[in-house]
Amino acid sequence: MAVDNAIRKVSLTMESFRKKVRRELYGESISEGVAIGDALHYKPIALDALEMNSFPVDDIQKELDRLEYAITKSRNQLSAITQRLQQKHSAEIGAIFAVQLQLIQDHSFIQEIKDHLYEKRMNIEHVIATEIRKLEKRFKSIDDEMIRTKFLDIQDAYHRILRNLLEIEHVRTNPMQRIEKPVVFVSEKLLPSDVALLDFKKIEGIIIEEGSRLSHVAVISKSLGIAVITKTPGAAALIRSGDKVIIDGYTGKVIIHPQAAELSSYREKREHFIAKTRPSILRAQASKLCRTKDGRRVRLEANIGSEKEAREAISYGAEGVGLLRSELFYMSLAHQPTVDQEREFYKKIAGIMKQRQITIRALDLGADKSLPFLKTYEEDNPQLGIRGVRYLLRNRELFYNHLSSIIPLCKTAPVRIILPFVSTVEDLDRALRMIERICREQQVEREIVQVGMMVEIPAVALCLPSFLSRVDFLNIGTNDLVQYLFAASREDSDLEEYRQNTHPVILRLVRNIARVAALRGKEVSICGEIAGEPLSAALLVGSGINSLSMQPSSIPVVKEALGRWCYCDLKKLAKKAALLESSSKIEQLLEEFSKQSEIGS
Ligand code: PEP
Ligand code: MG
Repeated sequence: MAVDNAIRKVSLTMESFRKKVRRELYGESISEGVAIGDALHYKPIALDALEMNSFPVDDIQKELDRLEYAITKSRNQLSAITQRLQQKHSAEIGAIFAVQLQLIQDHSFIQEIKDHLYEKRMNIEHVIATEIRKLEKRFKSIDDEMIRTKFLDIQDAYHRILRNLLEIEHVRTNPMQRIEKPVVFVSEKLLPSDVALLDFKKIEGIIIEEGSRLSHVAVISKSLGIAVITKTPGAAALIRSGDKVIIDGYTGKVIIHPQAAELSSYREKREHFIAKTRPSILRAQASKLCRTKDGRRVRLEANIGSEKEAREAISYGAEGVGLLRSELFYMSLAHQPTVDQEREFYKKIAGIMKQRQITIRALDLGADKSLPFLKTYEEDNPQLGIRGVRYLLRNRELFYNHLSSIIPLCKTAPVRIILPFVSTVEDLDRALRMIERICREQQVEREIVQVGMMVEIPAVALCLPSFLSRVDFLNIGTNDLVQYLFAASREDSDLEEYRQNTHPVILRLVRNIARVAALRGKEVSICGEIAGEPLSAALLVGSGINSLSMQPSSIPVVKEALGRWCYCDLKKLAKKAALLESSSKIEQLLEEFSKQSEIGS
C-alpha cells in the first residue's frame, strides 16, 4: 500500500512537470537582454559519472545487443552526415566524419570494445567511458602531433556511440543543425571548446548553471546581445527541451512555462531592448572618432576572434583590432591549421579591416582553453600553470608555425604581435629570439614587426621597466590581472565578489603603468572586459590610458559616454577613486559622478 502511494505521488509529480507548471528561477545575469523561446537542453557527456556508475551484468548478450544498436545508429548518422557534407561541398569537414565512419565500421575497433566487455562484465557505458579515459591519458602525453590529432576522431566516435546508448543528442551536430527557430540554450556548464562550436545565430538566450562574467560564453554573448543567466543550480534538470522559457537578462529572472500576459509583456521588453541596441542607431556614431568633451582623443578598438566579429568591428566604428584572440580561430577547427590556412585567416581579417591596425595575440592556450588536437598538461592548478607563452615555448614547433603564419604579413598589412601570459623576462627573451629567427629565415626586417606583451600577471605590472625596454607596446589584460591579484579564478562563479575590476588597487596599478610607459614613449592599451563599461572606461581614461579595446558592440556606447565627460574631470575622478579603500566606495563615487554629469548636461 505504502509503495502504491509512493508510486502515485511520483506519477503526480511527473504529471505536474508534464502539465507545464509555471516556475520562476533567479540567477545572475552575465549578459543583458531579453530572450523568449523554446529550450534546447544540452547535456555534455559526464565521463566521470559514467566511470563511477558501474554495475556488474550477468546478461552479457543484452549489453552486446545494446552496443550493436548504438553502433548501427552511429554508422547511419555518420553516413548521412558525410553524404550531406559532400553534397554541400564541405569536403574537409566531411572527411572528418568519413574517418569516424571508417573507425566505427572497423571490425577490430568493435571487437576491442567487446573484449573489454567480456573481460570486465560491467555495463557497456562504463566499459566505454573507462576506455576513453585510458586512451585520453595515453594520447595526451604523446609528442607527435599527428598521432595526438587522431585521438580526436577516436574520442568523437566513442562519444557518438555513448550518446546513442544514452539517447543523448550532441549540441555540435544534430540538434543545432536541425532547429529552425532560435532557442534558449540550457546547460549545466559549457566548456570553451563547446562555446567555439555553438551556432550563436540560433541562440536567443542562454541559461548555464555555472559560469562567470569573464567566461568565454559571457564574452561572446555580450558582443552579440544574447541574454545569459548563470548561477541557477538545478535549472538544467528542471528545464526540458521544448519548454517555453523567458530570460530577463536585466534582473536575472527565468520563467519556465510563462503565462500569456507575461509573454506579451516580455515581447514588448524585447522589442525595446532590440530598439535600444539597434545597430542603425548605434552605428550612426561609427564614423566619428572618440574624444572627451574637452577634446582628448581616445582610441577605441575591438576584441575579436573571427571574420564575423571583424565585420562587426567595422560597422561599430572600431579604429582597429586591439586584440585578435588567435586561439578562438583554432577552437573553431577540428584539426590544427597549416601555416597557409592560418595565414589565410589573418589575410581575410586584414582585408576586412582595410589598413586599420590589427594586434594578433599569439595563442593563449592552457588553463581553460585546451584543444583536443594539441597537447594538454595534467596540472593541479592550470590557471597558474602552462598557459600562453609558457605553453608556446614548450611546444616550439607549434609556436614556430604559428608565428610563421603571421610575421610575413607585417610587410603588407598593419599587423603586430602581442605575447600572452608573459611572467618573466627570460620567457619574453625566448619568445623574442623565436621571432628574430623567423624574421631572418623569412627575410622580414625585424624592425617592421612590432611586438608587444600582455600585462596580466602582477609580477609584470610591478616590475615594468625591464619588460618595457624589450617590447614596443603593452596591453593590460585586466580579466587575468584581476584574477591573479585577488586570487580568484575567473571561471569560478562563486568567486565573483572577489574579482573587483575597479578596486583602488587596479586603478593604482593602471595609473602607474600608464605613467611608466609614457616616460619611455611606449603605448599602453587595455583590453579586459572593464574597457567596455562606460564608467570603468571613464576611470581608465582618467588614469592616463588613451587606448581601449572591447567587444565591438560596446564601442558606440563607450564613445558616446566619453564624449559627455571632460578629461580634466575624469583625471580628478580617477585620482580620488585610486585613494579610496574599496570597490564599493568607488561605486558610490561613480554613482554621484554620473548623477552630477546628468544634471550638468
Ligand atoms: C585579459 O586577460 O584581460 C584578456 C583580455 O585576455 P583573455 O580574456 O583572453 O584572457
Ligand atoms: Mg588574459
